[in-house]
Amino acid sequence: MSDHKLADATILAQGLAFMDEQHLGLIPGIFPSTTYERSADNSYPKGKIYTRDHNPNYEQPEQVLAALEKGADAMLFSSGMSAATCVFMALKPGDHVVVPNIIYWSFRNWLQTFASDWGIETTFIENGNLAALKAAVIPGKTKLLWIETPANPTWEIEDIAAWAKIAQQVGARLAVDNTIASPILCNPIELGADIVMHSATKYLNGHSDVLAGVLICKENDAHWQKMRSIRASGGAVLGPFEAWLLMRGMRTLAIRVKQACINAMKFSQAFEQHPLVEQVLYPGLPSFNGHDLAKKQMKGGFGGMLSIRIKGGEAAAIKVAAHLKLIKRATSLGGVESLVEHRASVEGEGTLCPSDLLRISIGIEQVEDLIADMQQALES
Ligand code: PLP
Repeated sequence: MSDHKLADATILAQGLAFMDEQHLGLIPGIFPSTTYERSADNSYPKGKIYTRDHNPNYEQPEQVLAALEKGADAMLFSSGMSAATCVFMALKPGDHVVVPNIIYWSFRNWLQTFASDWGIETTFIENGNLAALKAAVIPGKTKLLWIETPANPTWEIEDIAAWAKIAQQVGARLAVDNTIASPILCNPIELGADIVMHSATKYLNGHSDVLAGVLICKENDAHWQKMRSIRASGGAVLGPFEAWLLMRGMRTLAIRVKQACINAMKFSQAFEQHPLVEQVLYPGLPSFNGHDLAKKQMKGGFGGMLSIRIKGGEAAAIKVAAHLKLIKRATSLGGVESLVEHRASVEGEGTLCPSDLLRISIGIEQVEDLIADMQQALES
């Protein structure tokens, strides 16, 4: 077994064999203590001081996520947004970053408002346009490239290896929001990325009952240590119960993601030619613009997220969503239950999302039930 590498499904199901050492329980306990006793010799024998820096419940999910993403270390945060923003807070005023236009809407807003107020200069470029990226980077000034792939809500695919090469050439880091693919379908560090981020609220937890985020690094370097100190001093950490619940959800990540991929592919195929559907956007469809790249860069599936553009525009799309009975109208994604949303309504003024688009997070239900639900909604 010594050279044998464990598969993701095994790492997840067994949780790297963490357990309740005190009682030999198979599942570690929940450790609510906010503080730890100092010894008479003035040391902290277990290395833990205060829960803003250390809690036993962070260790298992962090080590599991570092193993899944083939990284050197991982850090949990209280949300995906607090993880993402920490990467930018570790930059200095005047530093330049390049980001594609289409990324998770709230994060784009944050870059245009808070990050800009703090002196971070962001250049937004067309998704999938490497020539625009080459033109946008400023050697010595560009410190970070940030991509999300597939990108919310139209699922553009970025070439991670190509972005990593350009980052290296100009002395910048590449960070990848890997939320939509999950570590089961893509490992950006293996493709050259320096930092991977997830909204753990989505596929990692998978049950729509924990808000959490995570960063994983390729190298435990000075930049990583700076982010660690930003987390410790800012305190955007998970509670121990949430960290425990996240680990409980992650144990089934591999099987959930695989099923969501199968369902999303069948669902996309069922509606691609439908007379009331303008277009199905799903990286698994050969008709999708980034399909070949997705096939090259994603392992064994294209994810559970897709969007459907409805003929008849915004009003028709909202009406179809209103007639769905099984698929719930709610924001978020990556849970076991399928969700739909009229994305432009959520994003509001200034949205880049087509107004006829319904974003669908496909869950792990029996897919024929989901197809029947969409069929009846389109017909009514
Ligand atoms: N990244 C992506 C791709 C997302 O979809 C989201 C949330 O929807 C986030 C980041 C932010 O994560 P959170 O809601 O956990 O703060």
